[in-house]
Amino acid sequence: MSKSQPHKARKRFGQNFLHDAGIIRRIVACIAPKEGQRIVEIGPGKGALTEGIISVTKRMDVVELDRDLIPILRVNLFRYPDLVVHEADAMKFDFSTLTDQGNIRVVGNLPYNISTPLIFHLLSFNNHIDDMHFMLQKEVVDRLAARPGDSLYGRLSVMAQYFCQVDNLFIVGPESFDPPPKVDSAIVRMTPHKTMPYVAHNLKQLEDSVRIGFQQRRKTLRNNYKGVLSDGDFEQLGIDPSLRPERLDVKDFVNIANHISKKD
Ligand code: SAM
Repeated sequence: MSKSQPHKARKRFGQNFLHDAGIIRRIVACIAPKEGQRIVEIGPGKGALTEGIISVTKRMDVVELDRDLIPILRVNLFRYPDLVVHEADAMKFDFSTLTDQGNIRVVGNLPYNISTPLIFHLLSFNNHIDDMHFMLQKEVVDRLAARPGDSLYGRLSVMAQYFCQVDNLFIVGPESFDPPPKVDSAIVRMTPHKTMPYVAHNLKQLEDSVRIGFQQRRKTLRNNYKGVLSDGDFEQLGIDPSLRPERLDVKDFVNIANHISKKD
């Protein structure tokens, strides 16, 4: 496959193209594609990752925003007639339109400038997704996978782990990309829970409760939930109000959200 066509990487589209064949092989091995599976790639770029997957699955859907990359992608992947290119913004894309024959798997070396809102957009389709493999800034992966008590544990960790099992797979250095990003990257696997271990009766309430809980990380729960939860509420919940928010697990936040919903 020739990737020699000129295309200046565009910062505004978060373009850092993977060129390290060893890393591409490792990512494809983690994804472990199977023939016939419906895998959707976000931001295929020039097709570095795409080819490793479609050579196995034979068909693939890709969502790319930069229309100038699409002819390059088509040339590079001309051997695969069942590549379906959606020229679209993944942030607005309705992924449920691709699920007519069952659940999809999602992959992508994501544009780092929009990776967190894009993950939240995808989580709204979690019932239709079997798993997701992403390359992200290492710090974002560390946040997604952080456990209670870890310094990076926060809103992103709680919301991601409410929906998914999160596995931090491996680190990728800047030298594997062209142009090299300023920071390390990492590969994460997010597997939506088939059966939700804890169910928030109102998702918006869970989001609000987690935001309030972490509004001041160094303050106690009593302080952060002032005017929302009393010591009596904490007693009913079996949660010590003198703890800091980073000590609570996903189940505690779901219980808090459901308790507040009940009070309203
Ligand atoms: N997958 C390629 C690779 O690994 O070499 C490119 C990865 S590059 C980090 C991110 C890709 O996402 C670029 O192709 C960029 O044009 C595309 N992109 C940026 N914003 C997007 C959006 N909102 N929707 C879809 N694709 C987007």
